[in-house]
Amino acid sequence: MKLDNPYQRVSGLCHEAKVQDFTGTHIVLWNTPLAQQLGLPEDELTKAQLATGQAHPHAFALAYAGHQFGNYVPLLGDGRAHLLGAVAGSQGQSWDIQLKGSGATQFSRGGDGLCGIGPAVREFIMSEALAGLKVPTTRCLSVALSGDTVVRQKPSAGAIVSRVASSHIRVGSFQFLAAQQDIQALRELVDLTISRHYPQLAQLHADEQLLALFSAVMDRQIELIVSWMRIGFIHGVMNTDNTLVSGETIDYGPCAMMSQFDFNRTFSSIDRHGRYAYGNQPQIASWNLARFAETLIDLFTAPQEQVVEQLTQRLSQFGELFNTKLKTMWMHKLGLMSDDEHVDELINELLVAMQEQHLDFTNTFVELTAYCKQQKDALVEIQAPLVEWLRKWQGVVDQHLEQSAALMSVSNPQVIPRNHQVEAIIEDFEQQGYSDKLAPLLTALKVPYSLQEEHRYLQQPPASNDEDYQTFCGT
Ligand code: AMP
Ligand code: MG
Repeated sequence: MKLDNPYQRVSGLCHEAKVQDFTGTHIVLWNTPLAQQLGLPEDELTKAQLATGQAHPHAFALAYAGHQFGNYVPLLGDGRAHLLGAVAGSQGQSWDIQLKGSGATQFSRGGDGLCGIGPAVREFIMSEALAGLKVPTTRCLSVALSGDTVVRQKPSAGAIVSRVASSHIRVGSFQFLAAQQDIQALRELVDLTISRHYPQLAQLHADEQLLALFSAVMDRQIELIVSWMRIGFIHGVMNTDNTLVSGETIDYGPCAMMSQFDFNRTFSSIDRHGRYAYGNQPQIASWNLARFAETLIDLFTAPQEQVVEQLTQRLSQFGELFNTKLKTMWMHKLGLMSDDEHVDELINELLVAMQEQHLDFTNTFVELTAYCKQQKDALVEIQAPLVEWLRKWQGVVDQHLEQSAALMSVSNPQVIPRNHQVEAIIEDFEQQGYSDKLAPLLTALKVPYSLQEEHRYLQQPPASNDEDYQTFCGT
């Protein structure tokens, strides 16, 4: 299948890279709805090409830099990924198809370029879950076994993920070119970003366009982080190389869902200081945006001092813009219609109580939603721990139960991919190459704001407290 390569429009970003020859590849997960949405042919040959890269004519590795846990690394790049190309959609947009775990490239820095079946399955489940939950995200077209063994903490089957993204333009891609002071290439990258993600900015010129681009990327990051926080998602590795200017979620290595509410919750084994904790995600997004702003400075025509001032001024709007969206998000989760003086108090008191009482984040809101829907078993679990708060909240929502229920039903998922369920599926795949627990979970996650009776078991939080649950980067 012939695909376009938009990155060739940017000098120095994209390098031919050969996908490793694997014998015995085998597709274990194929995302038919996504293939149909992209208009991909689904004959066996095309599927095999798109899922494994075998017999695909050209593939590419992209260069990027990045701040990892705050430390700048001047050259990262696709060390275990190959871009097959981009497929055009019907409305002018296009989607990259990229393989992960498809062998070493010039950016592998001693790594093997491979991926185990566990992280591949996690990426499939989590990205499909976020798509169903209406969170901007890259998607998974497929997972295939490579036929090889990958050695990590223990040996496991090697796998190739086929990832679909509206682009792979990272803050780290900008950092890579800016560090080389390659103004022409940076300009080409700005043009590519605008044509793929922000076509409305194409009519603007020079400095005005760059400032508007910065603000547009900032808006998308705000949207993204607010939607993560709405569903209790902790990304776990918000490095600048894992930040897409499209505002989609990328890199599902150490991510996890929060069970018991805690602003400081972190699951990643390497995030020892909680840099990427649930409640720290907004600050990190803002920090990453500052790194993005720095890469744009040399493109401006105005004197540097003035440019820095203008960009700083834009970035300083982050807090207010974010808090406004965040408050609206909590209001919707609580079915609160008007922003009067009780709203802040209701939100804050609930969050404090949830944290103190170790309440399950998702199910607390499931119960509140059930109350507004006037379901008979509502508030069973949270009645006792929240008794005082509930009285205040009911005093407000009782005046418009139906409208509150409507708001809450689209803000509060009934089903999320619980960590223990995801782990059980991964373990099945590691042991036997399939899991019969996967299909029902994926079915439920396609419509996570409603609950089919047969999926009620998926609402069950982990039996033991999952405070000690740990995730690992999939390297
Ligand atoms: P990630 O943890 O996926 O964000 O990756 C960070 C950097 O490490 C990227 O440049 C990856 O390409 C590289 N990397 C991660 N795992 C491997 C691997 N197994 N082989 C080669 N490079 C890798
Ligand atoms: Mg990454």
